Amino acid sequence: YPWEAPQPEMFEDEEGFNATRAQEDKVRATFVMLARNSDVWGAVESIRGLEDRFNRRYHYDWTFLNEEPFSDEFKRHTSGVASGKTRYGLIPKDDWLEGFPSWVNETRARAAISEMGKQPIPYGGSIPYRHMCRYQSGKFFRHELLKGYEYYWRVEPDVKFYCDIVEDPFVTMKRLDKSYGFVVSLYEYQATIPTLWQTTKAFIDANPEYVAKPNLMEWISNDGGKTYNGCHFWSNFEIARLDFWQGPAYSKYFEHLDKAGGFFYERWGDAPVHSLAAALFLHPNQTHFFSNIGYFHNPFAHCPLPGNGVKCACSTSTQDPPTGPAFETHGYSCTPKWKKLTGYKGGTPFAAHG
Ligand code: GDP
Ligand code: MN
Repeated sequence: YPWEAPQPEMFEDEEGFNATRAQEDKVRATFVMLARNSDVWGAVESIRGLEDRFNRRYHYDWTFLNEEPFSDEFKRHTSGVASGKTRYGLIPKDDWLEGFPSWVNETRARAAISEMGKQPIPYGGSIPYRHMCRYQSGKFFRHELLKGYEYYWRVEPDVKFYCDIVEDPFVTMKRLDKSYGFVVSLYEYQATIPTLWQTTKAFIDANPEYVAKPNLMEWISNDGGKTYNGCHFWSNFEIARLDFWQGPAYSKYFEHLDKAGGFFYERWGDAPVHSLAAALFLHPNQTHFFSNIGYFHNPFAHCPLPGNGVKCACSTSTQDPPTGPAFETHGYSCTPKWKKLTGYKGGTPFAAHG
């Protein structure tokens, strides 16, 4: 689906820094961070890093969400490094349950979780992690603090941004009419999602009107939709439209998944859930690769190739894991396939400089 993107408008700020102009009416957007009070120092590190590389010039709001009230310490330290407004939200009890949902068989869920906990699967035995994945999959975008925003940028504690971010990614999303932006894509552990694909297929078979034409089915399946190959966008970094999740296709899809119980009987992650939806319900060109955003979340990094003017503190040598190289050259990456299918031709159209 090759297409020509329009060029962004440039401006030079008081320090002579070239950047794209946040249109006259600034994009209504916020960073969103789900965190525990104990995450405070990792949160501060992520915020400080993103402020230094980007937000100190833009001052977008920061929205923090937690199923427990944020401590004064968490609020003080995070507000201290943010240049935009900071807002702290308590997650309603109905959206982050104390126990299992009423329709989930608790005995079966507990047995499955304890069984997965014996295998070498990240968070296989964790109940809180499952609540987190369910919340990120189906609930966060309905939090009242997110009302009124068009886009959000998900940020987690303890991530790094390696490069100057010279084009406002929110403006990019809006200018190019994108709904879902990513940096890293990779394969999911199949053991965490044995029935996610059959459950998804049942949904699209029953609701074919929600499936976009064209779509990225070929990205998520190597056999025409029989099986899921595990390709997903790494959702710890995510820039997206809130109304994509709030709309009928995704709302009904999440409801269908939730009722099937796989967030608890298995360990469905929000990354494959969001990605399957983006692949099936969006036009391929509505997904966007932020190739110039240098990013690290343990254990992988994406370091942009040199020559794009974004001034990165990371290595593009294949000899230097984990700070390099461009993750799409890694064998675990699904981005080469995404590039091929979307007719991607290099980074965001942008006048490189510096
Ligand atoms: P990983 O990236 O899959 O290793 O999972 P993380 O531990 O980074 O969790 C993903 C996101 O959810 C991060 O933003 C965490 O701060 C947040 N998170 C994880 N578990 C909890 C929890 O029990 N409560 C809250 N409030 N946030 C959580
Ligand atoms: Mn994480």
